[in-house]
Amino acid sequence: MKHILLTNDDGIYSPSIPVLREALARVGEVTVFVPSHNWSAAGHTKTMHKPLRVHKVKLDDGTVAYTSNGAPSDCVALAMLGILSRKPDLVVSGINQGANLGQDITYSGTVAAAMEGVIFGLPAIAVSLDSFESQDFSYAAEFTAHLVNIILVRGLPPGVLLNVNVPAVPREQIRGVVITRLGKRIYSDVLVERKDPRGRNYYWIGGEPPSGVIEEGTDIWALANNYISVTPLHMDMTDYRLLREMKKWGIGKR
Ligand code: MN
Repeated sequence: MKHILLTNDDGIYSPSIPVLREALARVGEVTVFVPSHNWSAAGHTKTMHKPLRVHKVKLDDGTVAYTSNGAPSDCVALAMLGILSRKPDLVVSGINQGANLGQDITYSGTVAAAMEGVIFGLPAIAVSLDSFESQDFSYAAEFTAHLVNIILVRGLPPGVLLNVNVPAVPREQIRGVVITRLGKRIYSDVLVERKDPRGRNYYWIGGEPPSGVIEEGTDIWALANNYISVTPLHMDMTDYRLLREMKKWGIGKR
């Protein structure tokens, strides 16, 4: 039986854990290893300046989970570097509360945990539900287990992870699955300046949640049209087109 590492960036109290754990348990042996608190938008972190602690805790459903004070990506590293007696064959990160589309992937702790799995040479998928409020992870969990089953058979090329986003609508309204490219988010962040009780300024990056450019074939388009989006991502961010072009720039030593 294959061994699936289940992590997330919403922490041990995420309501998606028991639902996804149960769905994945039909596909393989599941180990839950998650941060002890919420790391949303923590990006790809390697904790180097404080000790990492690991605790084994019992979840409400009676199953055991590992937690760490480290980031989602630290949890994957800890699991791979020896905390688990049996190494995982695949990493699932999620189900995140809130979509991870377009440039979100560069902020996302959910995606970063999957990237960490890829760095360790494992196939990995990041899964997000397009809602901060919905508590219904059942369809997203079922789809994730279905996709994991396919990946365990077919594998993924080295350096590749899948970024999955599921619309938060009743399952009969989901129109299908689209293999997508990354779209373009439009962030409407504003700088909020306030004063702390000692009279000093502090700042908060606030504003409305991001929207996005609705362009067919993108993850943003898929979600806007009630499709599940599956975006293959490569860890190699080299711009090969510009690389070739830049060789003609004559950037020499001065
Ligand atoms: Mn999150």
